[in-house]
Amino acid sequence: MRFGAAQVRVFGTRDGSYSQVTDRENYDSQVTLTDYEAELAVGHFGRNSIHIGNVTSDRAASAKQFRLYPDGEYVTLNLVFPKPGSQELRLYLAEGRGFKPDGGSIWFMYLLDDELWIGSLGEPEWRSLMSDLRLDEADVVYQESIHDPASIRTSVLAARDVYQRDRRVAIEAMEMSGYACCVDADHYTFTSKATGQPYVEAHHLIPMSVQSEFSVPLDVVENVYCLCPTCHSAVHHAEDFLVREIVEGLASQRQVLEKFGIMCNELLGYYSVEDID
Ligand SMILES: [Zn+2]
Ligand SMILES: [Zn+2]
Repeated sequence: MRFGAAQVRVFGTRDGSYSQVTDRENYDSQVTLTDYEAELAVGHFGRNSIHIGNVTSDRAASAKQFRLYPDGEYVTLNLVFPKPGSQELRLYLAEGRGFKPDGGSIWFMYLLDDELWIGSLGEPEWRSLMSDLRLDEADVVYQESIHDPASIRTSVLAARDVYQRDRRVAIEAMEMSGYACCVDADHYTFTSKATGQPYVEAHHLIPMSVQSEFSVPLDVVENVYCLCPTCHSAVHHAEDFLVREIVEGLASQRQVLEKFGIMCNELLGYYSVEDID
């Protein structure tokens, strides 16, 4: 599948793909490139330079050069269209050549400075590398600005949080939900000293840090959900299964995916809990 916002940020390129290596692929030492993977490889090497037929029928034409993540050493792997007349593109994995990802791991390719990089990481490692968007460092400051506007510590704002968040939007979202947790209105909270209302926090379901991907503002009530402090901490810090459960639940309450024109798996990708196939 094609890189989403999290991968774009980590690798600094939009043109990339990732997928899970099956045990079968590992055992057979070959992966068949799916749509976007094939597009990426063909776009880089050129359709005419990719050998058609078995590797053994032309070893030189089958060999392609990649750069290996993370150190950038050059590796040579075989990439061919094994069957004449078929679009099926196959990449051979080889321990001896430096690239043999384990079954269950994530393998990826991306273009950087006109070279095609390739790499693999264990799934937990991959997901944690992609979890920057989920953690949303500026969120804490934002909550303070809602509940105690006098205490806004602008100096604490991370440089990357270039998008201002409007306190009034948060208050409007809280009023709309009756100051109750969107995951479950019965969740315990306490009275906020500043507002005199039940204390809830405001969470942008589509993170503000991906604003540049959208032509419409993300700091709008449709994208802001009130959460009790526990659920809010959970959506940023819980184990993957719970993050996924909360995000899917919140998305299903409104037409948020339709409004912002994204697929559910893309939304889950912002939290690094998407399905990887
Ligand atoms: Zn949040
Ligand atoms: Zn809650």
